Amino acid sequence: MTNKMFCFQCEQTAGCTGCTGSAGVCGKKADTAQLQDELTGAFIGLARATVNNEDLITDTTDQLILDGLFTTVTNVNFNNETLRSLIDQIHLERNRFTPMCSSCASPCGKANDYDMSDLWNADEDTRSLKSLILFGIRGISAYAYHAAVLGYKDKDVNQFFYKALFVVGMDWDMDELLPIVLEVGEINLKCMALLDQANTETYGTPIPTEVSLTVEKGPFTVIAGHDLYDLKLLLEQTQDKNINIYTHGEMLPAHGYPELKKYPHLKGNFGTAWQNQQKEFADLPGAVLFTTNCLMPPKPSYANRVFTTEVVSYPEIIHIGEEKDFTPVIEKALTLGGYQ
Ligand code: SF4
Repeated sequence: MTNKMFCFQCEQTAGCTGCTGSAGVCGKKADTAQLQDELTGAFIGLARATVNNEDLITDTTDQLILDGLFTTVTNVNFNNETLRSLIDQIHLERNRFTPMCSSCASPCGKANDYDMSDLWNADEDTRSLKSLILFGIRGISAYAYHAAVLGYKDKDVNQFFYKALFVVGMDWDMDELLPIVLEVGEINLKCMALLDQANTETYGTPIPTEVSLTVEKGPFTVIAGHDLYDLKLLLEQTQDKNINIYTHGEMLPAHGYPELKKYPHLKGNFGTAWQNQQKEFADLPGAVLFTTNCLMPPKPSYANRVFTTEVVSYPEIIHIGEEKDFTPVIEKALTLGGYQ
């Protein structure tokens, strides 16, 4: 394959076959796609290094796996700097499992990074089954990540990431790969149950809720993505600040949770689905916070009012770090002033 990039992990993929040019349909550039492949290859190297070293896996290793897999989900991270940093962190972590490799006189290559072109150039059946496994665990990582934010983790789910990554790097035939594909489904269900438990035990059981689509006068912030904890923190930090909060796209279900809907300044939902954001945010007199997918490349007309947090990142867009101080978002909302 001599394409500049190859990615066919989502339903937006060009011509229903694959994004192969200078950028994908989602806006992901070829160099970013290549770094995401490098990142995935590094993960497979890490998974290889954990074989017979399972006792060395720590919470940090698990979190690195979640961060990295989630980072490669569609419309999450377009930032090459983040990707390079993650690759470095994975190599460091891999070296912790294989401390002798760097000084070995005849390296066996057992924990080497995997070359993702081997996957993209494999025969159709192998490519399809391995892609199902890889894209499946990327999706599961998003659920597991959100559950972990609330302190909920599952040993089976976390262990499966290493197993699945290891398998993607193996020359296995269909009979060996198919059971792993089925296991992806089982683990996915288990992880969804974990996230449901995390959300309902933290925010209460969701109840049918009427959501206003009217944006009231005055300063406001729109919050997109799936991270309910970020919404909760934003609601807390904007209390008594004369700022209203509106959900967008994937954040709409948040209105059903009793512990979130109790905030009177969670006013309603702005706009429609994620794919309309470039049109809907063009003249928005409010700040926008992306907590997870789905971020589209921000247009210059509104880029200066967009903020990212968690694994979401875009070059030159202000990122709210782990300290979760949303002051820049709040100040932007106040400056813009909202609709008058
Ligand atoms: S994630 Fe982006 S580059 Fe990959 S298939 Fe989807 S649209 Fe194309």
